[in-house]
Parts: sequence; structure tokens; C-alpha cells
Amino acid sequence: MSKLNLVLFGPPGAGKGTQSAFLIERFGLVHLSTGDLLRAEIKAETELGLAAKELMDRGDLVPDHIVIGMIRNKIEAHHEAKGFIFDGFPRTKAQAEALDGMLNAKSEPIVAMLALEVPEQELVKRLLGRGATSGRSDDQDEAIIRNRIREYENKTAPLKDYYGAQGKFKGIDGVGSLGEITERLVKAIG
Ligand code: AMP
Repeated sequence: MSKLNLVLFGPPGAGKGTQSAFLIERFGLVHLSTGDLLRAEIKAETELGLAAKELMDRGDLVPDHIVIGMIRNKIEAHHEAKGFIFDGFPRTKAQAEALDGMLNAKSEPIVAMLALEVPEQELVKRLLGRGATSGRSDDQDEAIIRNRIREYENKTAPLKDYYGAQGKFKGIDGVGSLGEITERLVKAIG
């Protein structure tokens, strides 16, 4: 059976992490979040973590080769997976091309890019709310949140066209109850 490799896409605060949890359970997928992997490196105080922390604290993207290397290791560690859900990756065209290279070499391409769409004012509200409880320093300062949204618009949003050209882009309304949004995602997966 072919693998259900999905990109869960959207700006910071769109609900990618939350919705991933439902999709993983429903379809038996392996979750790969570069944000989570980077935060684990920071917690373990690795050299990579130290370098990434400075960029993450400003809301800037970390260099492509770092996140591409992390994803490559994880894909190789999970040959048995029914599929992957990529959350927060790819974020640049170079990352998307590298991912296509890795997956196409295994004849297990991305099936769909599910793009959660949420207005900016709602994103800022959600992220400040999350910052109050998550302990994530990049969720606690509105200027940093807005920088993350700018990074998304400048470097990441163009990937809608990249996947659109492959016929894989699916826009999903990301405003509503958790259950409603999950249903929209499940319908889009088909
Ligand atoms: P996230 O948990 O996805 O919101 O990511 C938190 C931060 O980690 C981002 O603001 C970036 O600094 C960094 N990061 C996570 N994933 C990537 C990626 N694919 N490319 C570059 N930077 C990333």
C-alpha cells in the first residue's frame, strides 16, 4: 500500500500541532515536527540546540541544512511508518525540494499539503494565549510572534504555489471548533 505522507501547513498558531495529534491517531502516522525536534536539542543543551535557540528566540528560521538533516535522520529511522505527517516542515523552497528528493527516491511522495488558513489577528491572540501556559518564550512577546508570521509570509507561504503546481495543495478553513477542523482535514485527505 502506498504511504500517506502529508504536509500539515499553516502559519504559527494555525493549529498544526493540535490537529496532528488527531490525524496521527486516526491514520497511524508518524509525527515529524522540526520545532519539537529543535526544542528537544535545546533541552539537551547540544551545540545544535544552542545555535538554534538564538534564532528561535528572535522568531527567525534556522538554516535549511540543519532542519533537512534532522528530517533525513527521522525518515531513515522509520521505514515501517504507514506515512509521515510533516508539521512545521518544509518552511522554505529549499526544504520542500530536499523533502521531495528524499521521498521520491523511495517512491513515497507527498500525497497532499493540507494548509490551515487563519487570519493574523486570530493567530496573535492564540499564540499569546498559548504563551501564558506553554512556557515557550517565542509565544510570549507580540513582536516576536509578528516576526514569525512575517517569516511565514515571506519564506513559507510561497510553498502553496510549489505544492499547487503538483496538484497537492488543499486549503482548509482553520477557524472553528477542534472537531470541525479535524473533520475538514479528514475530508480533504479523502
Ligand atoms: P514551530 O514549533 O514549528 O513553531 O517552530 C518554532 C521555531 O523553530 C520557528 O520559529 C523556527 O525558528 C524554528 N523552526 C522550526 N521548524 C523550522 C523549519 N522547518 N525551518 C526553519 N526553522 C524552523
